[in-house]
Amino acid sequence: MIPTLKLNNGVEMPQLGFGVFQVPDAETTAAVTTALDAGYRSIDTAAAYQNEAGVGKALASSGLAREELFVTTKLWNADQGYQETLAAFERSRGLLGLDFLDLYLIHWPAPELGKYADSWRALEKLYADGAVRAIGVSNFQPAHLQHLASVSPVVPAVNQIELHPYLQQDAVRAYGNEHGIATEAWSPLAKGGSLLSEAPITELAAKYDRTPAQIVLRWHLQLGNVVIPKSVTPARVRENFAVFDFELTAADLDAVSGLERGERTGPDPDTFNAV
Ligand code: NDP
Repeated sequence: MIPTLKLNNGVEMPQLGFGVFQVPDAETTAAVTTALDAGYRSIDTAAAYQNEAGVGKALASSGLAREELFVTTKLWNADQGYQETLAAFERSRGLLGLDFLDLYLIHWPAPELGKYADSWRALEKLYADGAVRAIGVSNFQPAHLQHLASVSPVVPAVNQIELHPYLQQDAVRAYGNEHGIATEAWSPLAKGGSLLSEAPITELAAKYDRTPAQIVLRWHLQLGNVVIPKSVTPARVRENFAVFDFELTAADLDAVSGLERGERTGPDPDTFNAV
């Protein structure tokens, strides 16, 4: 029922997943359980979210077979470096209670630390060892991807970046398309703010008898992005999943794309080096 994208190593990734940024650990189990009950099978967490244990509890009690799930977590900046990455991966895997992960991402390039190439070598080892089915990056600009390509033959399967109609990331997406890197959109709803009241989106919502969030998610899916909307509101969790039974026209997609204004809701990857 959920469309998948074939990653550059042949692994199939659900195009729609559930994000848990800023969900406290104690509330995460309930939120992920709601998502799994609604039909989501892909969950996006990170060591930095401090809720991997909550995610793990929901997975364990779901009764779903491991092969039905697609679980992503991310390496935090403070743990960059070869040995540090291997140790951080083991902590995440333990908290999630899983034998293997589906996708492990370097959370930020943190260029000032100068360690992402070493971290990448550790991800290569985890992949070679079968500890993770696919490896990728997050918040990498073309320059960071180029640098990685100059030191490693292994192309990231995924680049998870801030992406929504206000910030369409043409250059990063073009680099990904050219090099076989799937683009995954974080904050796909631009954090549920003013984007959802923009005229082209509310007009399309009326035209299709859908909600603004569903129009935005449909825009992403038809552009080929992976999306991971977050919500702790059960009705919205279900609403965000009900996007596979209608289609926007090319003109509708263009109308939404007209909202581009180069506006980030989060940090700039070129200058974000927090540990
Ligand atoms: P989203 O764009 O998914 O928006 C989430 C916000 O929108 C929440 O406040 C939510 O409210 C609200 N919302 C959700 N659905 C609806 C709806 N149908 N109608 C109206 N409002 C809605 O933002 P996020 O920043 O959470 O991004 C999604 C995921 O991306 C994260 O959870 C995380 O997994 C990932 N991410 C990755 C980053 C990275 O650096 N790699 C950085 C940031 C995010 P409520 O919950 O109250 O219902």
